[in-house]
Amino acid sequence: MSKYIFVTGGVSSSLGKGIIAASLAKLLQARGLKVAIQKFDPYINIDPGTMNPYEHGECFVTEDGAETDLDLGHYERFLNTPTSKANNVTTGMIYQSVIDKERNGFFLGKTVQVIPHITDEIKNRMQILGKSNDFEIIITEIGGTVGDIESLPFVEAMRQLEWELPEGDVIVVHLTLVPYLKSAGELKTKPTQHSVKTLLQTGVHPNIIVCRTEEELTNDVRIKIASFCNVKIEAVIEARDAKSIYEVPLNMLDEKLDIICLQKLGISNYQNPDLDKWKQFLYQIHNPNLIIKIGLIGKYVELQDAYKSILESFVHAGAALGTRVEVVSIHSEKITESNVAQACKDLHGVLIAPGFGERGIDGKIAVAKYVRENHVPFLGICLGMQVAVIEFARNVLGLKQAHSTEMDKITPDPIIDLMEEQKSIVMKGGSMRKGAFITQILNPSLAFDIYQSESISERHRHRYEFNNAYLKRIEEKGMLASGRDSKTNLVEIIEIKNHPFYIGVQYHPELKSTVENPSKLFLGFIKACGIKKNIDKDKSLE
Ligand code: GLN
Repeated sequence: MSKYIFVTGGVSSSLGKGIIAASLAKLLQARGLKVAIQKFDPYINIDPGTMNPYEHGECFVTEDGAETDLDLGHYERFLNTPTSKANNVTTGMIYQSVIDKERNGFFLGKTVQVIPHITDEIKNRMQILGKSNDFEIIITEIGGTVGDIESLPFVEAMRQLEWELPEGDVIVVHLTLVPYLKSAGELKTKPTQHSVKTLLQTGVHPNIIVCRTEEELTNDVRIKIASFCNVKIEAVIEARDAKSIYEVPLNMLDEKLDIICLQKLGISNYQNPDLDKWKQFLYQIHNPNLIIKIGLIGKYVELQDAYKSILESFVHAGAALGTRVEVVSIHSEKITESNVAQACKDLHGVLIAPGFGERGIDGKIAVAKYVRENHVPFLGICLGMQVAVIEFARNVLGLKQAHSTEMDKITPDPIIDLMEEQKSIVMKGGSMRKGAFITQILNPSLAFDIYQSESISERHRHRYEFNNAYLKRIEEKGMLASGRDSKTNLVEIIEIKNHPFYIGVQYHPELKSTVENPSKLFLGFIKACGIKKNIDKDKSLE
């Protein structure tokens, strides 16, 4: 039977519960334990797929095509194991299944209530991975902050589970903020005390308190938190602001978060943590041989979380190559034909980001043209690939009004068009082409050089596709469709001959990049940008 660690948050949102949960999971995995990690989100959407990135950050897509919270991306990147539909549950999903059961007569004769019906459904979901017998420990992150009305049923379900399962099989790690008041020159423990009290009111006593802090947690502060919150002093853990999220597992190791959890769960069968590869990765991050600048062109660039997986993919692949990638965020709405050269002047490469809708599209097209003509390494992801195709159609094929029907329903040249199976779909939620599909790669091609394989699997999330009616024409003019879906023949990769590195992919390579397994496409792209930097340097010496 699996044991359960719940991670709750108090005082404030954005304290990094996902990173703490992923770090703890990493340490337990490094000690030889089989760990799964899941997230329960209190919002009523069935999934974040219909939310704007400004609301929710990036939507992370799993192998089996679930649109999930971006914390699942952290779990995968840290643990190097894929997650699935089962790893992310929302209030919307819980209510939907309870209401479906009610309509089907499952509760005939009964009033359907939050307790016990909603909490029973939550408990069932909480234990799905645990009952699979594949894992010794299940870490469950409860989204939101304790005390929020909407997270109450999750906290109550957690309390019931703790009571139902054998003593010591469930523990609760509570993450709080210990603010530093500059004027007083002190760390303040009162918000933590209050947040633990809020948790106590729901009948849950946290076993471990992780304190997010800017300053060192002194012994006095630890004693204060321990005594007022009724935990042992060794169960008060300092989580100081770190230079990089990837430092956090090692910081938690120093604070013995993993050991305390294992003791409390009564698990004694574990090994010394094997973190050699992780430490090597950190060394590489901090000691680059080369620094390059890559422009990230998108319309959500104000919000870091909107392109989380892309930014992390640069870190993973950069570290593997001893290269630090400085990402220059460029707002696509601010780019025009006349300022594009200036905007791209110092860049060693450009990535056009995924996205939806019309806003900023002209800026992206201007960038795609500039990098194609000026031999700047280019990677287009999903909408970024579609933009590259539109630009090529307009400026090389001379189809001046070519567009995607997503932006222009009546274009005479719909070079990007709705996929056939999408044409009859009206439901917005969960209805895109999502999840992992196999792409066949042409050999020889740039794509083959990058992947060194004729068959790859990457994850997707889109409704529109390259319109094969234009394939012959673009290929005649030097754009190659070097990757096609193995079953449907959809164009998945385009590239340009006679260019050092120009590639667009309909899928999202960033979703499979992990610390241990950087994306091959990002590796290839960063290498090409490094070469461009050296060429630029040589030119400036001439
Ligand atoms: N909006 C485009 C489509 O639906 C691209 C999607 C994306 O970039 N994820 O096909």
